[in-house]
Amino acid sequence: MAKPTIPLTVMPGRAADAHVVKAPPVVELGTENDYACGSCGTVLLRANAGQVHNVLFECSRCRALNRADL
Ligand SMILES: [Zn+2]
Repeated sequence: MAKPTIPLTVMPGRAADAHVVKAPPVVELGTENDYACGSCGTVLLRANAGQVHNVLFECSRCRALNRADL
């Protein structure tokens, strides 16, 4: 069975104190779900529900900032 791919929320700008992670390469923290860039659909993060809070992922492809708060 294919994993669900869940789009992340694209942020308009970056908070000065936010923790920003660049992806891809896909950040693998868990196995449950794939989370994709809300702009271009590239998978950025693999994690379990409830595992990631308030982290920004900068998409290496389109530079969109995606907020992950699962
Ligand atoms: Zn993207």
